[in-house]
Amino acid sequence: MPQILKICTGDVLELKKPHPCGEKLFTVVRLGSDVRIICKGCGRDLTLPRVKLEKAVKKIHPAPTESSSKG
Ligand SMILES: [Zn+2]
Repeated sequence: MPQILKICTGDVLELKKPHPCGEKLFTVVRLGSDVRIICKGCGRDLTLPRVKLEKAVKKIHPAPTESSSKG
């Protein structure tokens, strides 16, 4: 049974494959059928189909809770 990953904007994803710059952590900036992530190492942004991204994710580091402030 496929597991559905709960990804939210602001989460940091650890991918199985590192970016060419060597960084494995990416910040989620936009969600949809395509997910936009930014490499924490070099700051480049990538857009991946969600299905493909879910397969590439090794671990999700949830965004720090800042929801007490308005937003
Ligand atoms: Zn990078």
